[in-house]
Amino acid sequence: MITKEINFVESPEVHAPKTSKHMVQYGVWSDCCNSCDFCLRKNKETTTNEMKILYLETIRKNIALLDWKNQFSYGISLLGGELYYIRNKAVQNAFLRLIDDICEIVLTPDNPNAKYSTVSNGMYKPDFLFRVIDRIVEKCGISRVDMNFSYDLKYRYHSEKSRIRAEETINAFMDRYDYNCGIQMILTQNVINLWKDGKFDVVDFIEKKFPKGILTFLYPHPIAKPKKVLPDFNFKRRDLLEFLSYLRDRNFDCYMSFVQSTKNSGTFKYTGLRDKEMDNPNAYRETPILSDGKESIQTKCGHSTLYNCYADSNRCMLCDIIAHEGALTL
Ligand code: SF4
Repeated sequence: MITKEINFVESPEVHAPKTSKHMVQYGVWSDCCNSCDFCLRKNKETTTNEMKILYLETIRKNIALLDWKNQFSYGISLLGGELYYIRNKAVQNAFLRLIDDICEIVLTPDNPNAKYSTVSNGMYKPDFLFRVIDRIVEKCGISRVDMNFSYDLKYRYHSEKSRIRAEETINAFMDRYDYNCGIQMILTQNVINLWKDGKFDVVDFIEKKFPKGILTFLYPHPIAKPKKVLPDFNFKRRDLLEFLSYLRDRNFDCYMSFVQSTKNSGTFKYTGLRDKEMDNPNAYRETPILSDGKESIQTKCGHSTLYNCYADSNRCMLCDIIAHEGALTL
């Protein structure tokens, strides 16, 4: 059984990184086969197949220029939208060419910490996802894969059929590769309310839904152009603190992964081709930027304003998380 590891990105060092422990993330395209109520995509326009192939080819050229061993030894992260719901054969082939290059250039034997990290919603038949992962497994081994699926109890699925589809894909993945995937679920007030009403228990949830999964809660992010007000999305401060104490006592690993992922999210990541202008023939030369949209900072504590995510308070949630974790050692 392979258990995914969480790679923690080092603090931002804008001028001269002293460490190679960085990962480069690429937002490949924003197209998605679903329409979650809480989606944070700013651009929901459809990308043509020709443009998708151009994006993939540009990323291929870009990764060939980077020093993976000495600067980005934690590897590469490909993000969507949704990347594994590709029905067009030419786009599939372009994606697989990128995967081949990642295996040969990034996941090399002399760069042993490098991973292929990605997130999917799982709401599709996983044939193409399996082709991608099979390719990496064959060339580099499943230990080089950091696979995460997103899941939710209220805002993601518009039918029971789509929820079941996602659950089947996630569990099929874990069975196929004997691998513990990350299950990423936003910790919303809805989840906390279910817990307060005795309808959600973290241990029961994992055992029942994803017995081989590693559940990681994520904090609620700002929603891009919300179609409607989302009731019970952002949590109340007191409720979060009570839930944290429950989580710490009930499933310490899940508690720590929430704490660590929240803290980890506070550091800027290197983003490749952030300002990609694909009609520019030199776009592929763009070097990764230590910037990922968290640059707006709170004056009091220096944390990103993304952590102002309480429904009923303007306090910084990251400061509360750090204090809660710190209380453990007192
Ligand atoms: S799966 Fe992700 S990208 Fe797709 S609609 Fe939902 S939140 Fe947005």
